[in-house]
Amino acid sequence: MAITILIPSALQSYTGNQSEAQVHGATTVGEALQQLVETHPDLRKHLYNEQGKLRSFVNVYLGDEDTRYLQGLETPVKEGDTLMIVPSIAGGSPSVAESVALTNEEILRYSRHLILPDVAMEGQLKLKAAKVLCVGAGGLGSPLALYLAAAGVGTIGLVDFDVVDFTNLQRQVLYTTGDVGRPKLQVAKERLQSMNPNVDVRTYETRLTRENALEIFADYDIIVDGTDNFATRYLVNDACALLGKPNVYGSIFRFEGQASVFGAKDGPCYRCLYPEPPPPGLVPSCAEGGVLGVLPGVIGTIQAMETIKLILGKGEPLVGRLLLFNALKMQFRELKLRRNPNCPVCGENPIIRELIDYEEFCGVRGEEQAPTQAVEEITPAELKRRLDAGGDIFLLDVREPVEWNICHLGGATLIPMNTVPARMHELDSAREMVVYCRSGKRSAQIVAFLKAAGFRRVKNLQGGILQWSDEVDPTVPKY
Ligand code: ZN
Repeated sequence: MAITILIPSALQSYTGNQSEAQVHGATTVGEALQQLVETHPDLRKHLYNEQGKLRSFVNVYLGDEDTRYLQGLETPVKEGDTLMIVPSIAGGSPSVAESVALTNEEILRYSRHLILPDVAMEGQLKLKAAKVLCVGAGGLGSPLALYLAAAGVGTIGLVDFDVVDFTNLQRQVLYTTGDVGRPKLQVAKERLQSMNPNVDVRTYETRLTRENALEIFADYDIIVDGTDNFATRYLVNDACALLGKPNVYGSIFRFEGQASVFGAKDGPCYRCLYPEPPPPGLVPSCAEGGVLGVLPGVIGTIQAMETIKLILGKGEPLVGRLLLFNALKMQFRELKLRRNPNCPVCGENPIIRELIDYEEFCGVRGEEQAPTQAVEEITPAELKRRLDAGGDIFLLDVREPVEWNICHLGGATLIPMNTVPARMHELDSAREMVVYCRSGKRSAQIVAFLKAAGFRRVKNLQGGILQWSDEVDPTVPKY
C-alpha cells in the first residue's frame, strides 16, 4: 500500500510525465508532498515559494475534501489515501502563468511572438503548455514538427515506425542524406531538440493501431494527421471523435492538397466528408502516384498554422471548411463542410462506439494477400538465366510511361496496367509471358487478370524492377 498523489497535466512535465506518484510512510499531507518533491526536485519550485511555503494557487485535495478546510499541510494521511493536486482556475482556464513561466532565454527566443499582440506572453505560455501529437513523421510531419518546435509548443509527440529511406529526402525535410537507414523518430527527436531544447519531444516508435491509439492520444490536446494511408486516417479520425479531440487534417497527392480541422466541438469529422474509403488500388499512394516535393511543405505548414491557432484560440480555424490547394494553378479553393447528423462516428446515433479493424475496413488485407498468393512467379535470376539461354519469353511491363522512361528491361513491351483490359488482343496467349512492374504488386494483379482471361503461360516477375536491380543488374536504377 502507498499514498497516491495525482499530478495535474500542467505539472506532469516535472514528474517525467507521470500522472500520478506514490509515496510511502507519510503521516501528513505536508510529509507526502515533501516526499514527492524529493523524488521530483523540478517540481519543488512550482509547489513551494522561496520561503518553503505551499504556493497559493496549489490546492491539495484528500479524497474530495480540500485540505485547506481540514488541517492544511498537517492533515493526517494513511496508506491507501489519494491526494490530488489541483491548480487554481482563473477566468475559466488553468492558471498556466504560474505553473509554467518563460526563462530569459525563452523570452529572447520568442521575442517576435511576444511583441505580437495576438500571441504575447499569454499566448506563448499557452504554446508552452500545449501538447500536440503528430501522427506520421514524413512529408507532412516534417514541416509540421519543425514549425511547432520552433514556435515553442511545449510537448510534441511523434508516431512513426519507418527508417529514413533515400527516396524520402526529396520532401521530408527533417532528414539529411547521412540519416538514411536510421529510425526516423531518433533523427527527428535529435533535430527538433537541437533546434529548440525547450521542447519535450516524445516518440512512439510503433504502428498506430486500434489497440494503442486511444492510450497514446489521451495525453495530447490536439492530434495532427500526417498519415499517408486510409486505414490510419480513419483510425485517427475515429479515435479523435471518440475522445473529443481536434484532428488537424492534411493530405497530398501529386500537385494537390487538402486541409481541414475535424473533430472540433460542433464541427464535422473526416467521416462526415468521406463515410467510407475508396476501394483499394483506386487512389495510388505517393510511392505509386508521386508527389511534388514542395507540396507537403505547403500543406504541412498549413496544418502547423491551424494547430497554433487552435492553441492560441485566435482567428477562424478551418472547422467546417475543406481547403483545396492546386499547386500547378497556384489556387486555393474552399468548400463548406457540414456535420452529418447520420455520421457513423460523430452523428446523432453513432454506430461506431469503439475503434474497429481499419485494415479490413479499408480492404487493405484483401489487396495485399489475394493476388500475390495466387499467381505463379519467376525469380529475377531464373528469368535472366532463361533469357540468356535464348528462351522465347514475352516481357510485359505494366507500369506508367513515366516509370518506363526511368528504366525498363531490354526487349520488354509497355502496356500500362489500366489499359491492359482494352489492349488484351495485342497479347499472344500461346506465347510464354512474364509480367513486371516496380515491386511486383501491380503485375501480380495483371497476372491474375490474364489467367482469368485464359492466358495459361503467364508468370509474375518476383519483386519487380527493384529485385531485378538487387539480384541481376545493379545498373538498373531503383526508384
Ligand atoms: Zn462525422
